[in-house]
Amino acid sequence: MNQIFNQLIQYALDQGLIEQFDIEYVANQLIDLFDQDQFTYEIPKTSSDLPTILDRLLDVAIKQGKIENTITERDLFDTRIMGILTPRPSEVIRQFETLYEKDPEKATDWYYDFSQATNYIRMERIHKNIDFTVESKYAPMHITINLSKPEKDPKEIAKAKQTVSSNYPKCLLCKENVGFAGNQKHPARQNHRIIPLKLARGNYALQYSPYVYYNEHCILLNQEHEPMKIDRNTFENLFDFVRQFPHYMIGSNTDIPIVGGSILSHDHYQGGKAHFPIEEAKSFAEIQIDGCCGQLLIWPLSTIRLHDPDPEKLINAGMHILNAWKAYEDQDLGIIPCTNGNRHNAITPIVRFKNGEYEIDLVLRNNRTSEQYPDGIFHPHPQHHHIKKENIGLIEVMGLAILPGRLKKELETIERVLKHEIPLDQAKEIENHKRWVEEMMAKHWTDHIGEQLKQEVGAKFVRVLEDAGVFKMDKFGQAGMMRFIDFVETYPKE
Ligand SMILES: [Zn+2]
Repeated sequence: MNQIFNQLIQYALDQGLIEQFDIEYVANQLIDLFDQDQFTYEIPKTSSDLPTILDRLLDVAIKQGKIENTITERDLFDTRIMGILTPRPSEVIRQFETLYEKDPEKATDWYYDFSQATNYIRMERIHKNIDFTVESKYAPMHITINLSKPEKDPKEIAKAKQTVSSNYPKCLLCKENVGFAGNQKHPARQNHRIIPLKLARGNYALQYSPYVYYNEHCILLNQEHEPMKIDRNTFENLFDFVRQFPHYMIGSNTDIPIVGGSILSHDHYQGGKAHFPIEEAKSFAEIQIDGCCGQLLIWPLSTIRLHDPDPEKLINAGMHILNAWKAYEDQDLGIIPCTNGNRHNAITPIVRFKNGEYEIDLVLRNNRTSEQYPDGIFHPHPQHHHIKKENIGLIEVMGLAILPGRLKKELETIERVLKHEIPLDQAKEIENHKRWVEEMMAKHWTDHIGEQLKQEVGAKFVRVLEDAGVFKMDKFGQAGMMRFIDFVETYPKE
């Protein structure tokens, strides 16, 4: 044990998580956790990477009967170990603020590295994801098959069901997660630290997403557990964040179901240092709203882009568009803003600082359902659900598909069917893709079947995004979007 402890301590020293003065203090907590009675510090003869060190410690914990050998219990326990090595929140915040004063980018660089060093971001899992780019008529789209979330076995799911929820922390985004030990239903967060940030309208905190869907994928969470709400405060906060962190973009999901993210109960935004396909989109019209210049984008989701050096002007114009959209109706295109008191129209806003000025994308959304489309009219239609049936949220809106891990195996089987290695009707595990595979089999296939199949996945993703667009990118839809811009001009300002 002495050797593994020393390897772990050496790792923490190398990563700057602890200092020489902390060695005995940390070691004593480790020997307590593992029921040992002594420790001798020595520089380990061999070094090892963190996942290997933790795996060895977890094997000991299982042998000692402390945990069962399930992913949930392993994750709970190795986070507890990492919690021993993670500096206190106040120290982390002080370090971030000191760096921020020199250079905001240095502060986020350090905090991103720190979030990996503590194993809060499990990079070795993120690296399992399959990423590729596909051509499309809009822009090259990015696809990620998400293999980083380990699948739970039925035994674990049953155990989670028996666990009584305490309603603390209220959700995964609450600030009370910092240092939380977790349970069968809620991940451990002893190694989690957040950075408080004052935005124009309210107290927020910065953290990274443990799933890292794109580079430096961060989350800005309200320090209070309050529902999502897109209003003037949101716009002011988004611009204020980009003013404080000009190297990061930021956006928000809508504040209504179906066309937003998965967490509506806790006000939050998502940002990062990433370039998204939507930034490559071309435009079909130049517009001017309230003194701000902009474009209507050729993009599967209906997007108005405005830019100006003055954020105040963009906030006012954005609010003007949001208010007008909430009232806008176009029966011919199926756009109905409200039924039985339920609002259907909403906006996904994205803000960035680019070429010396601010830029905002306002993506028009509508969450109405019908008898034909009970999941949503402007939502992936049933014939595409075999690839994606979840909500089209902020990340997809920007042209990055996050597809379920099951697709990896399914695509391998489809590839074998296309290569005539197995007949389609014997490939039971791809039953849900049958129609799609039949359509593809009728196409011309080159020798690069794997590559061509990726392009087909990308084409499906584009179709899914097109379903979510309120104004379709044909001449009727584009004319409809122009009519909406005319409507904004006549709509009263706040
Ligand atoms: Zn919450």
